[in-house]
Amino acid sequence: MKTTILALLGLALSLPAYAADPDTITVYSARKEHLIKPLFDAYTEQTGVQIRYITDKAGPLLARLKAEGANTPADMLMTVDAGNLWQAAESGVLSPVESEALNQNIPAHLRDPGNQWFGLSIRARTIVYSTDRVKPANLTSYEDLADPKWRGRLCLRTSKKVYNQSLVAMMIARHGEENTSQIIEGWVANLATEPFSNDTMAMQAIVAGQCDVAIVNTYYFGRLQKEEPDMKLALFWPNQDTTGVHVNISGAGVTKQAKNRDGAIQLLEWLSSEQAQQQFAGLNMEYPINPAVAADAVVAAWGDFKADDLNVAQAGKLQAQAIKLMDRAGYR
Ligand code: FE
Repeated sequence: MKTTILALLGLALSLPAYAADPDTITVYSARKEHLIKPLFDAYTEQTGVQIRYITDKAGPLLARLKAEGANTPADMLMTVDAGNLWQAAESGVLSPVESEALNQNIPAHLRDPGNQWFGLSIRARTIVYSTDRVKPANLTSYEDLADPKWRGRLCLRTSKKVYNQSLVAMMIARHGEENTSQIIEGWVANLATEPFSNDTMAMQAIVAGQCDVAIVNTYYFGRLQKEEPDMKLALFWPNQDTTGVHVNISGAGVTKQAKNRDGAIQLLEWLSSEQAQQQFAGLNMEYPINPAVAADAVVAAWGDFKADDLNVAQAGKLQAQAIKLMDRAGYR
């Protein structure tokens, strides 16, 4: 009885702090502060709506949302990778949003078919190669990196990273489990060295002569290129005659327990709009989700490519299968 009264009291005390305040939106963001703050500031300036936010890694933010339950102050969860967004939806912390603006601004394969999360920028995970030791004419596809001609020449990031889990999940969706297994086993056989903890280290290993090719997100290439404009590395767009380059998203969803649901939807719509998209993508050297907006000049200079148009929700649906497959194939 005592606990019930205390719990009720606690609820009564905690509610006013988070009661619907149309002038405040609270965001939990796994996207880093320097990538979101300029946009939030611009939104506040335009609308007068204040945005409170915390940043952390995707896992801890999702755990926090689940633990807080109905008492969460979060109206929106923002994170990277469809694998993470799909997990959030599966955990029941998001809620569907029907919005014509979002449907208009975001291609269908880059948002949840159930409308619980929406892509806000596109990241391409592609092949990078040594311009000293590899002729681009000898590169074709992700699958071809399993060919013995790449023995001892491939560098990869760890399979623990969601980016690679999503890439492999999408390959399972395209090729089935059996064929994908053979490809991943081929990659492992071709590794020059143990997988790295991040994409930048894999590229630095190419520069250092440890390997000749790697698979990375293009914005990491962009950051390295900015520091070392003369580095002997270049991007290659694989699978141009077949499935296209593997793309993923950063994105967001409105929480199930949002106290300012309308505000969160309006912010989401604004972030996907033409006026916000160039900056949202440009700050991280990604591609705008909104097809009406051009990529910034540095990114555009890497060239056009055909992207995979499978719905990125597959990355979440097949994530567990991908993790098991990589483990069996010896991809650490
Ligand atoms: Fe990243």
